[in-house]
Amino acid sequence: MKILVINCGSSSLKYQLINMDDKAVLSSGLVEKIGLSDPLLTHKKFDDKFIIDTDKQIDFGGKIQNHEDAVTIVIKVLLDKDLGVISSMKEIDAVGHRVVHGGEKYANSVIINDEVILELEKCSKLAPLHNPANLIGIYACQKIMPKTPMAAVFDTAFHQTMPEEAYIYSLPYEIYQNYGVRRYGFHGTSHQYVANVAAEFLDTDIKKLKIITCHLGNGASITAIKHGISIDTSMGFTPLAGLTMGTRCGDIDPSILAYLSHEMNLSIDELDNIMNKKSGVLGLSGISNDFRDVEDAANKGDKRAELALKVFTYHVKKYIGAYVAAMNGVDVIIFTAGLGENDKVTRANVINGLSYLGIAIDDNKNNVRGKLSVISTDESKVKAMLVPTNEELMIAQDTLILTSQ
Ligand code: AMP
Repeated sequence: MKILVINCGSSSLKYQLINMDDKAVLSSGLVEKIGLSDPLLTHKKFDDKFIIDTDKQIDFGGKIQNHEDAVTIVIKVLLDKDLGVISSMKEIDAVGHRVVHGGEKYANSVIINDEVILELEKCSKLAPLHNPANLIGIYACQKIMPKTPMAAVFDTAFHQTMPEEAYIYSLPYEIYQNYGVRRYGFHGTSHQYVANVAAEFLDTDIKKLKIITCHLGNGASITAIKHGISIDTSMGFTPLAGLTMGTRCGDIDPSILAYLSHEMNLSIDELDNIMNKKSGVLGLSGISNDFRDVEDAANKGDKRAELALKVFTYHVKKYIGAYVAAMNGVDVIIFTAGLGENDKVTRANVINGLSYLGIAIDDNKNNVRGKLSVISTDESKVKAMLVPTNEELMIAQDTLILTSQ
């Protein structure tokens, strides 16, 4: 059974074709700059990478003007006799779509039908930057592969188990009732995937574990997973809340908005742009949103870069502490995503500040990148682990389960 996983952004489309018999990625790639004059297709056939000139290498007959064109060219490249991995479109048994926001309606992945599409259109208001793009990808696939079953897998679904006290904001209750303003949480597919992988690796029933998952990438969030279900998470109504991130500010005093709109004469949209795109590690360091650049600068003595890293580590520790309290304990702390999987210094800095939990980093074991492993000492009462995330595989697994029913 082969599943095509699609993740659409406003001007991009990521894809992965996975053979679910052995979970092998047959092909993956990215169409960028959709609608612009210089679209770009990067395609991987197994492990060979190709940058494809869509005008020359494949008879596409035009620019990639929209997501429908992007899906068409993805299918063409998958079928191409040199670059492709399948010989007929019928080999794609199902399509799994990443959808950012499922609102309160979806606590699980679903088969896409007309009713689901209507609900997703309603949810677009809650995630105006993401859901409309996800929907465009769904419409495009439906047009090009009308007979292929499709599933929607939501970033928010895993967190729908949070108790009221964790998701409600202390605003007038009617604002929640009338406008759906509450904590939703994101990165759910990743948090759920790494927690399951860790429990399997430790050969322990997830229902017996208290796990804190730290998804530390350009976007970063931490989740408290008690006995297999999410009970709290650091992102909120939007992915802006929680930790300081690559370009996002994370938690700040909400009154800062009113103050700055007066003092700097900025509109809400301008302030929103600052908080989402110009803050976080980039805003603090003034150097980059990429932790590698900021670490290089800090190693050369740049004080603002040092500060940015200190703030980030401090936020991670603070959230871990809060979630230990929320679960009345912790058994496993997991690091994942770009920074969590690759940066041993940040992992060590976080864990070294948590000795009160009876956890210590093993420097040899922590000297690892992107490999499923325990990185705490054998004596540690709480285990620290590195678990590479794989959101596409999780989406494909859910799609397989739903479409096989
Ligand atoms: P993601 O959003 O999960 O793709 O993570 C991307 C981020 O991971 C990049 O912006 C980097 O900041 C960070 N990252 C990736 N590799 C490393 C590394 N070797 N050391 C430090 N940070 C890294």
